[in-house]
Amino acid sequence: MATTSYLYHTLGLTRYCHERTEFLAGAVYYHVRKKKEARRCAHCRARWIHLVMNGAFTREFHALPVGRRKQFVVLHGHFQQCRCCGRNLREPIDFAEGKRRRLKAFDRFVVDLCHIAPIKHVALFLNVGWDLAKSIFKSHLALRLARRKLTKVRYIAVDEFAIRKGHQYMTVVMDLETGAVLHAHEGKDAAALIPFLEKLKRKRIILRAIAMDMSPAYMQAIRNVFPTVDIVHDPYHVVALVNRAIDETRRDLYRKLTGEERQVLKGSRFLLLRGMEHLKPHSLEHLMDLMEVNEPLYQAYLLKEDLRMFWNLPNDNTARVFLEAWINQARTLGLKHFVKLADTLGEHLPGLLAYFHHRISTGPLEGLNNKIKVLKRQAYGFRDQTYFKLRLYFIHESVPAFAG
Ligand SMILES: [Zn+2]
Repeated sequence: MATTSYLYHTLGLTRYCHERTEFLAGAVYYHVRKKKEARRCAHCRARWIHLVMNGAFTREFHALPVGRRKQFVVLHGHFQQCRCCGRNLREPIDFAEGKRRRLKAFDRFVVDLCHIAPIKHVALFLNVGWDLAKSIFKSHLALRLARRKLTKVRYIAVDEFAIRKGHQYMTVVMDLETGAVLHAHEGKDAAALIPFLEKLKRKRIILRAIAMDMSPAYMQAIRNVFPTVDIVHDPYHVVALVNRAIDETRRDLYRKLTGEERQVLKGSRFLLLRGMEHLKPHSLEHLMDLMEVNEPLYQAYLLKEDLRMFWNLPNDNTARVFLEAWINQARTLGLKHFVKLADTLGEHLPGLLAYFHHRISTGPLEGLNNKIKVLKRQAYGFRDQTYFKLRLYFIHESVPAFAG
């Protein structure tokens, strides 16, 4: 009775009778036979009263292990001669998929484990091959991806990621409301993005806004497919640009200066990149020294600090006034790298101001960077690019890796 209910509830063998249990070489074998009244013709679905048993076969299936002990289901099956359609066919097996030699329940267990542990560990734990565990998980993810609906997508973020050393990039699109990766494609050009945008268009998705950096390739792709959607250039990338501008200004100066003045510049890199609110008293002093030695550098620092206020402004009107004033000031001061930045910001004004309507950024997408690193470290099989992408599509569900 206990065995019957184990087979019924745990393994899902609802239409089978348990005949006997056998213990062989540390493994458990459950011998089962299909219940008479559950029989159907494999071809015409005729009920059991129309079937005559005509030949037999046995087949073994992997069931869930209990502890370290492997378990198998041994099916004693029949060929069924059907009086309705005249065919003599093997009985259908409903606890396994197709010709597979394992229970559906086994696959479900593998999938559950793969969500919380690396495949290598799952395979070791279940005492099966790494390839088998991976292929089970891979088909599960592929199936779910095929069923994924895009109808509710409204806000997305686009960015590129370095996936391998040597500048191999991947374009990744994230749904900013669910955190799911919707698209991943090799390359960082328009061609890596357009097929996905066209798919959204075919499905008549009404996009509200797209967060992205100021890359002309992506902008061109978006404008090709969605001429009127709001593009939002997010704080993240602009801050990166202003940091680069101040770094380059410092480097130029360092090359020009000599003696003691040059000495003051040493060790100022992180000082200049930091927000003023994070500076300790001795760093502030260092900053004042810098200002005395070199006014342009100090002006550059103030420009950078100023621009950081931009995203705290209450609406796009004040933001426009602020940004235009900032751009003017940068041009007036004439610091080479800041003039260049001012030009870039001036060209992208609509996208910078659009932030105040949607308040979205690629921030959540940047947060993926670490998860992707963990994924790459865990994965021995990421030479399989299809699998790598599938994992990426469901990376928002993965449990954070922990040490120990
Ligand atoms: Zn039939």
